[in-house]
Amino acid sequence: MDETILVVNCGSSSIKLALFDIHCERKASALAERLNSADASARISGDDNPIPLPAHASHEQALQALVHAFEDRNLMNGKPVSIGHRVVHGGESFREAVLIDDITVQAIHECAALAPLHNPVNLVGIRATRNMFPESPQVAVFDTAFHQTLPPRAYLYALPERYYREWAVRRYGFHGTSHYFMVQEAARHLNRTPATTSIISAHLGNGCSITAIEDGISKDTSMGLTPLEGLVMGTRSGDIDPGLFDYLASRGVNASDAHRVLNQESGLLGLSGQTNDMRSLCELADHGHEPSSLAIDVFCYRLAKYFGAMMASLKRLDALVFTGGIGENSARVRAQTLQHLTLMGITLDSDLNAHHGQFSEGYISDADSRFPVLVIPTNEELVIAREAGRLANPQ
Ligand code: ADP
Repeated sequence: MDETILVVNCGSSSIKLALFDIHCERKASALAERLNSADASARISGDDNPIPLPAHASHEQALQALVHAFEDRNLMNGKPVSIGHRVVHGGESFREAVLIDDITVQAIHECAALAPLHNPVNLVGIRATRNMFPESPQVAVFDTAFHQTLPPRAYLYALPERYYREWAVRRYGFHGTSHYFMVQEAARHLNRTPATTSIISAHLGNGCSITAIEDGISKDTSMGLTPLEGLVMGTRSGDIDPGLFDYLASRGVNASDAHRVLNQESGLLGLSGQTNDMRSLCELADHGHEPSSLAIDVFCYRLAKYFGAMMASLKRLDALVFTGGIGENSARVRAQTLQHLTLMGITLDSDLNAHHGQFSEGYISDADSRFPVLVIPTNEELVIAREAGRLANPQ
């Protein structure tokens, strides 16, 4: 019987599943979307036939349907040897992945105040798989854990210090699994070990963040208390003047409306007035749509500023790395961003830059560039599968 590791990533209305063998080779992926709505749907990657779901399927119902679909296709036989869960916020309680027990569940629950949109739904996934596979070990892998090495100068806000002491108000950082994977993979390209590799890693997907990693350790990152701070994102504003809240209040926009606007109606979508999707924006810009060109311009300029800022936390820099849907696929965004950094002596090889996309990886800088630039596809599910396998089978 084939042994499998199941990776579960529960979002507010979606579930992404990935199935690996015990050597961490991916066997299958599946996605359920628009859960708890009349349009709930699910499918296995590479299979056009939708998986039948009950009307308004819940996360648990969708998980069951997808696991049965894996079983029907002989991709999975019986209980997984381990189940890995992506958990967004581990607060200061979790510096690394952990086996899930009742105490862990309680601690993840306690971190929910810091990530009300994410941790509760991550717990829904954990409870569902614990019910379905009570004998399988379950492992939580936290987006924040990799950044628990940030020094106080990087994680403290310049606020009254009791906010940190009493309410845990500080910068946590996210996308840690992806940034961790970047330093592992960059080390391979650079012929170094991760523990001697220093990079600036830009994860550019719907959410975007950039991290300074010195000798394999996260030293600073652009996201903060929540995943709203930092870079311009698909629908999130990234950095704004906190004085905006008071001004918006004077215009009749209350705090919860402002929260919604900054998270769901800003970023590339807000600036372009059209879409949060970078590929569509590039097409619109190519057809002369000025607000889309401007949105890309703001996105790239903010990113370039952060590349510069992240240098302040490093003693040495071995490479700049692009990843995530935009970072891996958009030669235009990479070139436009790095154009702002000519003072850093970075020069691109335009052929290599144009060539690198979803199915290839490697250098996009030329031989004269002061710092190498790499494009590396992220694989957060693989990191979670490895952690799930490792913790289920301690050597
Ligand atoms: P998520 O954060 O949801 O995992 P992804 O990492 O898949 O997101 O990134 C999605 C983003 O990548 C979208 O803005 C999408 O338009 C962009 N993208 C994907 N392919 C391309 C491409 N060829 N050119 C430009 N942008 C692309």
